[in-house]
This record gives sequence, structure tokens and C-alpha cells, in this order.
Amino acid sequence: MTKSAVLILLGPPGAGKGTQARMLEEKFGLVQLSTGDLLRAAVAAGTEAGLAAKAVMEAGQLVSDEIVLAILKDRLAEPDTAKGVILDGFPRTEVQAAALDDLLAAQGSAIDAAISLEVDDAAMVERVAGRYTCGNCGEGYHDSFKQPAVAGVCDKCGSTEFKRRADDNAETVGARLEAYHAQTAPLISYYEGKGVLSRVDAMGEINRVAGDLAAVVVKATT
Ligand code: ADP
Ligand code: ADP
Ligand code: ZN
Repeated sequence: MTKSAVLILLGPPGAGKGTQARMLEEKFGLVQLSTGDLLRAAVAAGTEAGLAAKAVMEAGQLVSDEIVLAILKDRLAEPDTAKGVILDGFPRTEVQAAALDDLLAAQGSAIDAAISLEVDDAAMVERVAGRYTCGNCGEGYHDSFKQPAVAGVCDKCGSTEFKRRADDNAETVGARLEAYHAQTAPLISYYEGKGVLSRVDAMGEINRVAGDLAAVVVKATT
């Protein structure tokens, strides 16, 4: 793997971007960069960006490119990202994609792979509605598809605190899927045109998807 691999995970809410990004982190020593997580941290901290983003996120719409780009640039400036990054949930618009290209070009770097997690919309409502995470380490779980080995105890860190997102409800998922198809799905052809796109069937079991994804990553970075 090159020193500073840049991978992008594309896919609608519930596709498995966060789940797979965490597995790729462990497997390849990369750093997961989730703009959703960064925005939720800004909301929790009550920063100016967080205050502006809160209602937009709760409505299932996209936060402005300006806010998202500012947050992402700050995070990319931190030294740990030199190990290489998996962008989870970014870019989500053509403006963000173009800004990312410029940012990477300025560092003499470029995208190694943009991987589209291909799923059926209909299944995403159940994935999102059943999602919860460890309140301590952020490990993702699901009411039906991924429960901790010991009920109520995080597999990774032993915490017994779990949380659910304010926007993970059936009403908001519809708006989020719409935003995905209108604003983010066009990026699939954008990256196809650049010759860096791969598609992975993400309807299967979590570990099967992880295996397919790892094969794409190895091919793109060696
Ligand atoms: P995203 O980051 O794309 O929104 P997540 O990784 O958070 O998606 O996954 C959404 C929910 O679905 C989580 O509860 C996760 O445990 C579960 N999940 C992820 N991948 C799969 C899969 N391949 N099959 C079934 N459930 C999955
Ligand atoms: P999902 O599970 O829907 O993929 P994320 O955690 O990636 O969830 O994003 C949650 C919300 O944060 C989005 O619905 C959107 O409001 C906002 N958000 C996250 N990333 C971006 C982005 N790159 N551009 C605009 N808004 C974003
Ligand atoms: Zn945990």
C-alpha cells in the first residue's frame, strides 16, 4: 500500500459505509474520515458549524458544501491522516468532489479508488431504522443483522452504553435516499470517467462484503 492511499466509499444511508470503513481501518491501517461523525461532533460541541448543521441533518438534507469542506479540511490537516484515509460519506456533491480533487492535487496526491456500495433502496430503511452504535468506541450494531456477542455489551470495548442517531427514523430515511439519488449518485459516473470507480455488491452478509472490498482495495493500492 502506498503511504497515503485515498479511498472513497460511496453509497446511500445504510449501505454499510461506516461498518466497512472501520473494518478497512483495522485491515489496512488507514484512517476513517466520516463527515457525518465530524458533523455530529460539531453539533454536540455546539460550534457555529454544528448549530447551522443540526436542523438540516434532522431533516435528512445535505449540509452546505461550505461547512462540510471546512470541517473536512481541518480534519485532513491532522497528522494521522498521512497514513492514508477512507472517506466515508464524503464527497456527496459535485462541488465537494471537485474541491477534493483540488485539495489532493495541491498535496501531489490523488484518489486511488472510489468504491460504490451497491444496494437496494428498499432494504435501506430497515438497515437504518435498526442501527445503533457503542456510545464509547463507536462500533456499529444492528437490531437484526449485527448484535453484540453478549447482549448489551460492546464486543470491542465492553461498554454497556449504546446510542441511536436522531435522524435514523423511517421519515427521514426517505429524504436522505432522495438526497443521495439527486446529489450523490451522479458522482458514480464522475469517478467512472476518471477511471477510479469500482462497484461492490453490498446486499450480502457483512463479512462477505468486507472480503470483496478488501480485494478491490488491494488491487487499487498495490
Ligand atoms: P452507512 O454508514 O452506509 O449509513 P452503516 O455501516 O452504519 O451504513 O450500516 C447501517 C446498518 O446496517 C448498521 O446497523 C449496520 O450494522 C448494518 N449493516 C451494515 N452492513 C450490513 C450488511 N451487509 N448486511 C446487513 N446489515 C448491515
Ligand atoms: P448516512 O448513514 O446517511 O450515510 P452520515 O453519517 O454519513 O449518514 O451523514 C448524516 C448526515 O450528515 C447526512 O444526512 C447529512 O445531513 C450530513 N452529511 C454528512 N456528510 C455530508 C456531506 N459530505 N455533505 C453534506 N452533508 C453531509
Ligand atoms: Zn464499544
